[in-house]
This record gives sequence, C-alpha cells and structure tokens, in this order.
Amino acid sequence: MPGECNSCGRKMVSEEEHAGQTTEHPFCYECADHEGNLYSRRTVREKVVDRIMSERDVQDRRRARQFVENKLDNMPAWQDN
Ligand SMILES: [Zn+2]
Repeated sequence: MPGECNSCGRKMVSEEEHAGQTTEHPFCYECADHEGNLYSRRTVREKVVDRIMSERDVQDRRRARQFVENKLDNMPAWQDN
C-alpha cells in the first residue's frame, strides 16, 4: 500500500521505496535501514537536503537545511526531539 514516509514525508509509491523494501516499515529507504530502524536525525536531514537540492535545483545549502529542519519538526518520527 502506498504511503508517506513518517520521517521525511516522501511519497512512497512502490514497496522498493520503503526501508527494507517492505511496506511493514513506515519509513523510506533513505530514512531507515533495511530493518526499519530510523537513522539519526542529522543523517536523515543531510540526505533530504541532498535530495531537494538536486530535485529543485537549490544552490543554497544553508537554506535547504533550514527548510528541511522545519519539515522534520512536523513529521511523526521526530515529534519527541
Ligand atoms: Zn524518508
């Protein structure tokens, strides 16, 4: 079943995009290892920053990072931090 990564908000349309390639895990493969264990927030943040910078042709890494921090603050996976 397609869903959204609970960590970064990425839309996951196929099983392969889930951690461990199984929809059992609510995270995408960039946010968690193959067993579904979430990576550290810093690791996730940097990966998402890399992604949006290439996808949206953003040049300013500091701005991209700020954007991602705000986004992560609102994601279920990071509510306790
Ligand atoms: Zn994710």
